[in-house]
Amino acid sequence: MAVYLHEEDLPEGALGPGTVAVDTETLGLVTTRDRLCLLQISDGSGDEHLVRFGPDRLYTAPNLSAVLADPARIKLFHFARFDLAAIHHYLGVMAAPVFCTKIASKLVRTYTDRHGLKDLVRELLGKEISKQQQSSDWGAPSLSEAQQDYAASDVRYLHAMHAILVERLAREGRTEHAAACFEFLPTRALLDIAGWADRDIFSHE
Ligand code: MN
Repeated sequence: MAVYLHEEDLPEGALGPGTVAVDTETLGLVTTRDRLCLLQISDGSGDEHLVRFGPDRLYTAPNLSAVLADPARIKLFHFARFDLAAIHHYLGVMAAPVFCTKIASKLVRTYTDRHGLKDLVRELLGKEISKQQQSSDWGAPSLSEAQQDYAASDVRYLHAMHAILVERLAREGRTEHAAACFEFLPTRALLDIAGWADRDIFSHE
């Protein structure tokens, strides 16, 4: 199990086949303003790959983009809505098909309103992850060990949680609701970028 840091793209053949866990770190929460600084990806084998993007780059990452756009690979995210928008805006690909652990959690863990990654990892897997580096400077020219460890831990547990959440969705008869939500996520992300980020178009108002 190791964390690999790459510049600007994933090396060819870095990942095994199948489902990948993905997360992003940006300079802030406004996608069109705050650039994509880091993309973390794991094939679930225990290694995490971090791809760093410098300022003023063109985001030409053919190997990474091919994996993200591959319709045969499910992409696991925690709060996919944000990551899909950032990936689409900067890398120009839609990272679908998607499974979002936050949406799955909201559909099955109706006994709590705690759906953060830290809470979910603790309850489903009994592991502790630190969120201390969450709001650090991801645009810095070199990333600290603490930042790299934090970034890697954000994709480390998604495969294990995916397996549990799939079972829980089936148990509660909510698999189809989840699938329909995941199917809509790319559109939701595009609406965010297009100016409907703060509007719930399904609400009466
Ligand atoms: Mn993260």
